[in-house]
Amino acid sequence: MYPRVLIDIEKLRQNLKAVSGITKTRGGCTLAIVTKGVCADPEVVRMICEEPDADFLADSRIANIATYAGLAHESGKQTLLLRIPMHAELPDVVKYVDVCFVSEISTIRLLNAEAAKAGKVQKIVLMIDLGDLREGIFFKDRDTIHEVVAEALAMENIEFFGIGVNLTCYGAIIPKYDNLSQLVGIGREIEEKHGIKLQMVSGGNSSSIYLIDKGELPEGITNLRLGEAFLLGNDTAYGEDLPGTTGDAFVLEAQIVELKEKPSLPIGEVGLDAFGQKPYYEDRGIMKRAIIAIGKQDTDLDSMTPLDTDLELMGGSSDHIILDVTRAKRDYKVGDVVSFTLGYGGMLKVMTSPYVEKVYV
Ligand SMILES: *Cc1c(COP(=O)(O)O)cnc(C)c1O
Repeated sequence: MYPRVLIDIEKLRQNLKAVSGITKTRGGCTLAIVTKGVCADPEVVRMICEEPDADFLADSRIANIATYAGLAHESGKQTLLLRIPMHAELPDVVKYVDVCFVSEISTIRLLNAEAAKAGKVQKIVLMIDLGDLREGIFFKDRDTIHEVVAEALAMENIEFFGIGVNLTCYGAIIPKYDNLSQLVGIGREIEEKHGIKLQMVSGGNSSSIYLIDKGELPEGITNLRLGEAFLLGNDTAYGEDLPGTTGDAFVLEAQIVELKEKPSLPIGEVGLDAFGQKPYYEDRGIMKRAIIAIGKQDTDLDSMTPLDTDLELMGGSSDHIILDVTRAKRDYKVGDVVSFTLGYGGMLKVMTSPYVEKVYV
C-alpha cells in the first residue's frame, strides 16, 4: 500500500557504527541512541539492541520507552528518558526508565517516593541550562544547583547519576568548547562540594558531535545523545554529513492520483488556504501538475526532497501534495510512484503517521 516508507535497517546499522566511531572511539563518550525520531520503530529498536556500541536507548516519550524497556534490558542496555517527566507519569518512569532527566526538585521528591514504593533506586540526571532556554536550572544559579544536588543526595531512593545539557533546540544555540566547558566546570564543582563522582556529564545531541573531530569537545563530557546523526547522518549544528553515514536510510513513496495540464495561477479571488495561510503563486504559464496521495497529515512538506531532481514540490493540503512535473524527463502517468528522501521533520511525521506503511528493506 502507498504511501509507504522504505526503512533500510543495514544502512541505519552502518550509521550507528559510524557515529559510534566518532563518539565512543574518538570522543571517549558513552552513546545514547535516540529513538523518538522513528517513533521507537520495533525493527530499528531491535537493530540498536543488537549493536554493542549503543549504551543507552533514549526517548522523550515514556510510551515509546515502555514498548522496548524489556528488550533493552535483556540486551544489556539502559533506558533514558529525555523529556523531564510530568508528575502524572512518574509511576511509569520508575517502571520503565533507568536514567531520567530532571530539572525540578518537586519532581525529584515525587520520584523518590514512587521509587520507594517500587523498591527501586531511580537514577537521575540534573539538566543545566547553558543559555538555549529550554529545560534545566540556569547555569548562573549555582546556589539552586547545589541545593538540589544536596537534597537529592539525601534521598534514599534516588541516585544522583550526573548532569546534562540540551542545546540547539529552542534557542538554536550551538554547542562550543566554551559553553560545554561551563557544564564540565559545574560538574567538577558538584563533585568537589558534595564529595561524589558523576557517572554522566551529557554534552548534548546531534549538534555536539561535530566538536569531536575538530578536537573541541571539552574533556569531562562523557556522554552524547544522538538521534538525527544516527538516523539521517548529519550533524545538526551546521548540517554537515558525517563521514561513513548515509542520509537515505528512509525513502518515502507516494502514488500519483491525478496528472493534468493546468494554469499555474488559481482563478478567482484569493482567500486563505486549508491551513489559514495566504498562499503565494508564481505565474509559470500552463504546467503539468501531478497530485500524489499524501499530505500534511502524514508528512512535512518542507522536509522532503524528490529523488527525481526534475520535480518540484508546489504545496499541498491535509491529504494531497501537488508536484510540478513539467520539466520531468520521465513520462509520468497516473499510478506511478514518486520517491523522496526525508529531513528530520518529514521522517518524524511519516514514522508517526498510521497512514504511512512501514516497509523494511
Ligand atoms: C530529541 C533529543 C535528543 C536527540 O536530538 P537529535 O538532534 O535528534 O540528536 C537529545 N536530547 C534531548 C533532551 C532531546 O529531547
